Amino acid sequence: MATRLDSDLITGRGIRRAFGDTVVLAGVDIAIRPGEVVALLGGSGSGKSTLLRVLAGLDDDAAGEVTGRGRTAVVFQEHRLLPWKRVAANVALGVPGTDVSARVARALAEVGLAERGAAWPAELSGGQAQRVAVARALVREPDLLLLDEPFGALDALTRLKMQALFNRLRAEHRFAALLVTHDVDEALLLADRVLILEDGLIAQESPVALPHPRAPDDPGFGGLRRAL
Ligand code: ADP
Ligand code: MG
Repeated sequence: MATRLDSDLITGRGIRRAFGDTVVLAGVDIAIRPGEVVALLGGSGSGKSTLLRVLAGLDDDAAGEVTGRGRTAVVFQEHRLLPWKRVAANVALGVPGTDVSARVARALAEVGLAERGAAWPAELSGGQAQRVAVARALVREPDLLLLDEPFGALDALTRLKMQALFNRLRAEHRFAALLVTHDVDEALLLADRVLILEDGLIAQESPVALPHPRAPDDPGFGGLRRAL
């Protein structure tokens, strides 16, 4: 599966991670191509977040090899905004370059929050705060987004809106993404390919056949059902 292709954006090979005696990742191979959205499904505690952190370079204690990590941005389930900084300052944090405030304004506009740059995080709804987290990722112009259950804490309607926003941004920016989710419908709606993490390994892999947007009669659903 994870034969290294020159066209791969990021490749993880033989990724192992244990906590004490508990082996969470037992030699995972994974590769993501430019512009490809890959959903990573798995039960609670199956190691999805651990794998995402390894790919993000946030885990120094994992074994194995990650190559080709490009410009990567991470979005977590909690927005992780700094409460003592205004929204625009949160988005700008750590962004290099001279035209940062213009880029921040553009990123906020892209997530529908052009007017909220001066707001404090505490003044935002959960959905708005997560939009800011997405803007904070976008402003880095990533070629790879790593998203750890990014919409998992939102109510159903807000989640739908965020999923639509994700598809719009993806069409525009053409980033690749690894989307950790435990929501099968979300995986089918957003991903080109679905991986299932089980017992420390990628147990199943299913392409999702048709272009977006998907309908319930989309063969991709059957493809995943077969994989499951
Ligand atoms: P998932 O995101 O799929 O729910 P995680 O990757 O968060 O799963 O966790 C996988 C397993 O590793 C769980 O059993 C969890 O308790 C354990 N784990 C994760 N991080 C740590 C840690 N820092 N210390 C000890 N155990 C951990
Ligand atoms: Mg997790």
